Amino acid sequence: MTEISASHQVLLERYRASHIGVFGLPGLVLARGDGAYVWDVDGNRYLDLLGGIAVNALGHGHPELVGAISKQAAELVHVSNFFTTPAQIEAAEAVLRIAQAPQGSGVFFCNSGSEAVETAIKLSRRTGRTGIVAVGGAFHGRTTGAVSLTHKEAYRAPFEPLLPGVLHVAPGDVEALRAAVGPDTAMVLLEPIQGEAGVVAPPVGYLAAAREITRDAGALLVLDEIQTGIGRTGAWFAHQLEGVVPDAITIAKGLGGGVPIGGLVTFGPEVTGLLTAGQHGSTFGGNPLACSAALAVLATIESEGLLEHAVAAGDFLVDRVEALAHPLVTGVRGAGLLRAITLAQPIAPAVARLARSHGFIVNPVAADALRLAPPLVITTDQLATFVDALPAILDEAVKESA
Ligand SMILES: *Cc1c(COP(=O)(O)O)cnc(C)c1O
Repeated sequence: MTEISASHQVLLERYRASHIGVFGLPGLVLARGDGAYVWDVDGNRYLDLLGGIAVNALGHGHPELVGAISKQAAELVHVSNFFTTPAQIEAAEAVLRIAQAPQGSGVFFCNSGSEAVETAIKLSRRTGRTGIVAVGGAFHGRTTGAVSLTHKEAYRAPFEPLLPGVLHVAPGDVEALRAAVGPDTAMVLLEPIQGEAGVVAPPVGYLAAAREITRDAGALLVLDEIQTGIGRTGAWFAHQLEGVVPDAITIAKGLGGGVPIGGLVTFGPEVTGLLTAGQHGSTFGGNPLACSAALAVLATIESEGLLEHAVAAGDFLVDRVEALAHPLVTGVRGAGLLRAITLAQPIAPAVARLARSHGFIVNPVAADALRLAPPLVITTDQLATFVDALPAILDEAVKESA
């Protein structure tokens, strides 16, 4: 069992005294990481099954990422967008390649997922229409435009009025989507698997139906691959599992392996041409440090076979959790290494807290679901240590809640 020392508590108190409280109090002060493990300032080790929320694709301290950003830092960290760098050009080309984007496609680099969504909103306005359709449970970020497309009331209500013209329809319901999309619809924005809603995939065929509905209506289909992209589900992008070709995708989280970088990828010359010189920008977006990180992440996913590994490790996890046949576990959903273990009782926060005291970081994404989005480099042996510890953690949580 891990213990939090008095000096650790003092650091948390200093955090509280120095920060705007939007995150509440963090669970731990972390000091370092190696692969799929992190250590807190007391020296307690944790298996990081959350990976910085699907960000630390290569885990912590991966030599390829450390080497790439160290080398780039010594050469150039930043130039303005009056100039470019080999790293930026190569990163854009690599992103277009893994997105299987056709000739005439393009990338706009920014620094976060929300900024990528903001870029998609502005792109959609250039169709001459203003309507946006998203779905219930959607999470698209916290900036004012992005939060307008996010569904959760608690995230939206304090900041109203938000962007007008946004409609949220029932998730996974093709007929509801068809009814909502019309001649005023500029864009339909969808997560291929809803991350923050609890790792929930729409029914098979939903994305293909959305493609057909948007094409017929002359609206853009933009897929938010911020959480699902960069190999997380075992494909470079989750929509590739369904064979759907979108008009654009938003990317971020795993792309830089922890170095902030996001982007909008537009598919084909028509969509790419919607935004022209002077219509959008970013001071930091596309800087060589972030782009060198992205290049290292993408090259390492390829050289280490991490797409195949994400599938195999995800299957291993599902098999082993199901084999526990624990009465509190109702299933495992998601794909690759983006997973939720669903529980028969709404005690996920207690399970996550107890898991941490046993040395495992998991996320209670919903009252009855534990999200796992570990580094893609996590081994099946490491996953097994968690599954082996899980029954005792669950039993403890049940006892506590009784
Ligand atoms: C995390 C996330 C965002 C927001 O990304 P930020 O980098 O936090 O702004 C948007 N969409 C999805 C699907 C996400 O998971």
